[in-house]
Amino acid sequence: MRGAVLHAPGEVRLEQRDDPRIVEPTDAIIRLSATCICGSDLWPYRGIEAIETPAPMGHEYVGIVEEVGGAVRTIKPGQFVVGSFWASDNTCEICRAGYQSSCIHRVLMGAIGTQAEYARIPLADGTLVATPDVPPPDLIPSLLAASDVLGTGWFAAVAAEVGPGKTVAVVGDGAVGLLGVLAATQLGAEHIIAMSRHQPRQQLAREFGATHIVGERGDEGVARIKDLTHGFGAHSVIEAVGTEESIMQAIRATRPGGHVGYVGVSHDVTLPGDELFFSLVHLHGGPAPVRLFLPQLIELIWNGEIDPGKVFDLTLPLDDVAEGYRAMDQRRAIKTLLAL
Ligand SMILES: [Zn+2]
Repeated sequence: MRGAVLHAPGEVRLEQRDDPRIVEPTDAIIRLSATCICGSDLWPYRGIEAIETPAPMGHEYVGIVEEVGGAVRTIKPGQFVVGSFWASDNTCEICRAGYQSSCIHRVLMGAIGTQAEYARIPLADGTLVATPDVPPPDLIPSLLAASDVLGTGWFAAVAAEVGPGKTVAVVGDGAVGLLGVLAATQLGAEHIIAMSRHQPRQQLAREFGATHIVGERGDEGVARIKDLTHGFGAHSVIEAVGTEESIMQAIRATRPGGHVGYVGVSHDVTLPGDELFFSLVHLHGGPAPVRLFLPQLIELIWNGEIDPGKVFDLTLPLDDVAEGYRAMDQRRAIKTLLAL
């Protein structure tokens, strides 16, 4: 099969990889219908995160089940399925508590590499959720978004305790932040402040339900959030970047007693203990347990209630994966869908 492989920073190539096969009896093999490039794929692409190369790339996926192992009970060949970037059994004590991204048997899909024609999905019964039928082509981008960015934005909103009557601020205008806006809308937030300096992203934030846009960042951005909230700060803040500047902006924009939901993958962040202590802010986040939300998100998409696929502003054939990375690296694209 063909699949994307990172050879060195800035160097992604589509090349021949071994066809996946069933290794464990709990595995399934899927034929990808679409895959995409994640903001977190840019960390190794930019050489900021050191990884062993050559490395297969990609962890977002939707597709048709081709084959299942002997112990797979609920997932069947021919089904269209969506899964998360962590394979999980969905039965252990951690999964049952809603933290499938820390499943005791978890497998990182990024190590398998789903920017490819086929992929092996471990723990298929726990990991995959089948859609009611094979979807029409126009639903595929939104179902693919559920695999990571939508589920991650949703978890950030839940972790930030977004709800009716609350003011929510969103730090980060990448695909996850924008879908955090969508999640906040769905969860009934009263005011949603998107922090973004980029006009096309501001526009999409508004389409997803943002009521206010703040272009300033850092201390000025915090001051603007305070201005909009009678000096208190937001009840709920979604942090979707992962730098020290962005997480401190999120904490400082949150009122005492408020909640920060952080899902930007943390890179070289050091938090000041004294400021945290006096902030009286709740912090919750980490790699999103997307699997927890998949049934609900698939239903919302299937019923046409949400259209998270709008975050894909560039669609390329898998063959052009290298251009997909360049476009996101240079911020010419919010998120690239790779069609198969
Ligand atoms: Zn588990």
